[in-house]
Amino acid sequence: MVAVMALPPRHVSEEHYGWLLIPPRPDVSEYDEDHVLTEYIWRHFSRFLTAAEARVGLYTEALDREAATRIKGKAFADWLDETHGPVTMLELEHELKGGRCALFRRARDRILRDHSAEVFINRCPACGWIVRSPGARQCLWCLHDWHNGEGGGEARGPEGRG
Ligand SMILES: [Zn+2]
Repeated sequence: MVAVMALPPRHVSEEHYGWLLIPPRPDVSEYDEDHVLTEYIWRHFSRFLTAAEARVGLYTEALDREAATRIKGKAFADWLDETHGPVTMLELEHELKGGRCALFRRARDRILRDHSAEVFINRCPACGWIVRSPGARQCLWCLHDWHNGEGGGEARGPEGRG
């Protein structure tokens, strides 16, 4: 895809890391496969993130055990270790070297490569763009709805509409 990258979309800018919590804007002009795919993978397949990827990418601070304990206490630090696995600050710093956007893309590409059998990219049968979630049956981009029958994920014409 050839894209003119004057300004990154708001929801994935370095300044606004809260994009993981914000629904993508259903504005066709903002559809960017690269960004939409990144968000989709991080949102729905975070179980495939490494401990270091998860602990810098999913939180606003790089959380090794010491930082987690300081900020939210031992129970939170234990929960992080159990949920994502333990990490060292060195591993966290390594992940952040190229910036958060680079981390988001790198992890996305690794997950797509290593877990291709388990990752389902749900595409609108009408427009072919990636929809909100693996189980979604409505497209936020073109507003096509396939709740009645039509299988998602395959590129198909909009004949089932209505
Ligand atoms: Zn669509």
